[in-house]
Amino acid sequence: MKTPAADALCPCGGGPFGECCGPLLEGTARAWTAEALMRSRYTAFALGDTDHLWRTWHPSTRPAKVMPSGNQWLGLRIVDVVDGNPGDPTGIVEFEATFRESNWRTRLQHERSLFEFRANRWMYVSAEGS
Ligand SMILES: [Zn+2]
Repeated sequence: MKTPAADALCPCGGGPFGECCGPLLEGTARAWTAEALMRSRYTAFALGDTDHLWRTWHPSTRPAKVMPSGNQWLGLRIVDVVDGNPGDPTGIVEFEATFRESNWRTRLQHERSLFEFRANRWMYVSAEGS
């Protein structure tokens, strides 16, 4: 896995990698909101960090093994956030992610993801999307 420099823009666009998703992927910091966890999962997809994806996936829905997407992830836009703050049991994050497939077609993934605060951390549960 190729990790960006700490002062490079985070793949999720939220700030310098070392102050944004970097510490979450390294496991030295925890996501305190559903949006922060969602951003870190996008970044994990972009970097191919399948361990982080597996760790942050709810045990009731996660696959036995997370496979790399094979896509080139180009950008993330948060569309809507419902709850998902410290103290909330659940949160919903709606986002649009742009990616390029291996055939170079650019596509948009639009999704509303459900997160649950469980065992003192946010976890991805499921998604509805198009
Ligand atoms: Zn980030």
